[in-house]
Amino acid sequence: MLPEEQGDAAVQRSERPEFTEITPTAPVAVASHGWRAKCLQRLVRLDLPVPRTVAIPAATVRAIAGGHLPDTGAILAGFGAGPLVSVRPSSENPDWGGPGTMLNIGMNDERHAALAAEHGATVADALYLRFIRAYATHVARLDPDMFDGADGSAEALRAALRAYAQETEEPFPQDPARQLAEVLRSMARAWEGTSARLLRQAKGAPAEAGLGLVVQDMVLGLGRGESGSGVIQFVDPVSGQAQITGRYMRQAQGGDPIAQSEGEIYLTRDPRGPSLEEICPDAFADLLRYGEACRRRLREEMQIEFTLANGRLCVLDAVKVARSSRASVRIAVTLAEDEVISRSDALLRVEPRALSELLHRQVDPRRPRDIFARGIAASPGAAKGRIVFSSDAAQASAARGEPCILVRRETAPEDIRGMHAAAGVLTERGGMTSHAAVIGRGLGLPCVVGASELRFDPRERLLRARDGRVFREGDVITVDGTRGEALVGAVDMLEPALDDTFRTLLSWADAERDIGIRANADSPSDARIARDFLAEGIGLCRTEHMFFQGDRLTVMREMIFADTAEDRAAALARLLPMQRADFTHLFEIMHGLPVCIRLFDPPLHEFLPHSRDGLRELAEALDKPLSDVTRRVEALSEFNPMLGMRGVRLGITLPEIYEMQARAIFEAAIEAARHGRVVVPEIMIPLVSAVREVELVKARIEAVAAAVRTRMGADFSYRLGVMVETPRAALRAGDIAHHAAFLSFGTNDLTQMTYGLSRDDAGRFMSAYVQSGVFPEDPFHTLDVDGVGELLLIGASRGRRARADLTLAVCGEHGANPESIAFCRAAGFNYVSCSPFRVPVARLAAAQLAI
Ligand code: PEP
Ligand code: MG
Repeated sequence: MLPEEQGDAAVQRSERPEFTEITPTAPVAVASHGWRAKCLQRLVRLDLPVPRTVAIPAATVRAIAGGHLPDTGAILAGFGAGPLVSVRPSSENPDWGGPGTMLNIGMNDERHAALAAEHGATVADALYLRFIRAYATHVARLDPDMFDGADGSAEALRAALRAYAQETEEPFPQDPARQLAEVLRSMARAWEGTSARLLRQAKGAPAEAGLGLVVQDMVLGLGRGESGSGVIQFVDPVSGQAQITGRYMRQAQGGDPIAQSEGEIYLTRDPRGPSLEEICPDAFADLLRYGEACRRRLREEMQIEFTLANGRLCVLDAVKVARSSRASVRIAVTLAEDEVISRSDALLRVEPRALSELLHRQVDPRRPRDIFARGIAASPGAAKGRIVFSSDAAQASAARGEPCILVRRETAPEDIRGMHAAAGVLTERGGMTSHAAVIGRGLGLPCVVGASELRFDPRERLLRARDGRVFREGDVITVDGTRGEALVGAVDMLEPALDDTFRTLLSWADAERDIGIRANADSPSDARIARDFLAEGIGLCRTEHMFFQGDRLTVMREMIFADTAEDRAAALARLLPMQRADFTHLFEIMHGLPVCIRLFDPPLHEFLPHSRDGLRELAEALDKPLSDVTRRVEALSEFNPMLGMRGVRLGITLPEIYEMQARAIFEAAIEAARHGRVVVPEIMIPLVSAVREVELVKARIEAVAAAVRTRMGADFSYRLGVMVETPRAALRAGDIAHHAAFLSFGTNDLTQMTYGLSRDDAGRFMSAYVQSGVFPEDPFHTLDVDGVGELLLIGASRGRRARADLTLAVCGEHGANPESIAFCRAAGFNYVSCSPFRVPVARLAAAQLAI
């Protein structure tokens, strides 16, 4: 800054008032004075009875933290003789927190005597003692234990004053201006403290976020007439339904009884006891009016904090009602339906991620939580059940009708049946795209992975928590996949809330958004969920999941073990009708919408057993010697299976598999069409890295299509596309696009390969990496726009340059993340595809981007 500019800044600073009384016309703004000051001004403009309030802007508070105090005597001058005030924080955004409210500033011997004369010694003692305790703890930073057990007696008050003087070597300050100065200083410094700074930055506050403060005349909820304090709101904070909730306490301050309190009474008429509505009908009616005025004019459901002093009603503050996710949806939709806000505003008021909480059961936030392990919140929702350590045990438990939680070190494809049977999954290892996480999300199964502080002892069949607690098979636990926590016992749940307001909000979202949303769905039940959530088609059907069901695994294994082409053809011939039935079913459910089927992807060894027992069972099933089976399994195992014989590499070396799948798809399309279900199947080739792979597979698929047309005497159309999952495919997207109608970016593998980081092993060090700032976020969770994103941009632009009508999509797990959707939308992608349960989140996030 130039010297003359510095001078200008100094002049401007000195011209800016150090504090402002809040009146209807005072220059008070959220950016300078904070949300609370602005909100109080709005209440004043609505003519609500707000006690005198002075707003101190963030610039003044920053100067206070730097040692420059305003004239606190001048601030207090308008509050009359013997002032008694409160100070509350007023940052720019209420979510950024701030120091706690201080009440009763100005309390001293003189004021104590006046209060004793008016309200009695007990009340005066209690108020003075309360202030000394708060001041000593928060301002003088004395140990709060000093006042432990101090009741409201006169002796306790004298003891507190003595203790304060002893510790600070000065008497308790009597000058209200000095008290206020110290309170302001301590609040300003608390805001600048490291932990407060980190906390608010975690909630999105910028580094330079400032704190405003409001100083308000205290209205004591004391007196012979009806007096007390309370809060009232007009919606239920958990359901969002219209309902008066809150509390009111007679002879009380800030929700705390002062002395000889008559305690809490009901707000509304209640057969169980007296209510404010009956005792003070006028004040109650005023509160209802104020609530409605806030709703209409502040365009929000507010919680009003009020005091009654001898029947006179004062409104001290109003804050947005704290609300659950389900309440936030209902409140936003109801406000829009009542024409208080627009539909676009309603859409912007709901956090997309919060929607996923509505789709699943949740741990009731009002219940205590006994957490025994924390991990990655891999699939949202909560489930309770008995611990089982194997898929067999999970199936047995499901057969008995007993909900269970499958606990594994990590899951493998053979655990899918166990996952289907379980109510929830907890694993010691794994990250956001590990097997358990991907399958859990696909099934809508609550899942916590990478709970690395747990020790699973398979031999002893027990689970050790870090705090020493031990859990055995059969013990009941709760898995909270929304928060990534495992809880002891069966905790109360809130049921999913797919109600009318949820659907209304999403229908408004669809009217706004301009990027498509499809679902990743592998089974009829996934497809039904996808349809129910209004996905615009299936963007990824991982066909390999179909081979793990029922007795198909055995046929699949026979195919893998086939020694000759004839044997392999025989096994594939048995798989063909199963696949055809799968696809027919999917096409029927998704009729009218596109269904994108990915050809077989995983390495074959995933279908083979690894344990001794499993190998023996397989040898029996195949009627082969155990040694042969073991040798074959060893021959198929790879050092790094995710970089070996999988995806299109299998399709090139064992073409019969893809041919069988293509035939099943085409025959299913014909069959579905015969039932009046029109689909245009899309076939997608995984793990491509060279254009020649596409050419070879495409030629074979075209041959199969021609053969099916001839044999069945029916025509059909289909689209062939390529999954871009290797960096090379992204770089060569221009060549590839000549042979593909669409490119779908598989960002799970693409992230893995761009970083050279195994998605199954990343969980071991990911949290350390994120904590130490090596990665800003887990790239398997949040798309790495700088690196992987650049490959997406390169692939998209090269692809589109080669073929202008190329469809571009993302089908990795990033698909539903609002940040990824923003990226894809800006890059001109046609759609994103994500787990069915994340479709609503993606629909809302996409709408918010278009508004
Ligand atoms: C991907 O790699 O992003 C993808 C969608 O495929 P999968 O997760 O099945 O490897
Ligand atoms: Mg992949």
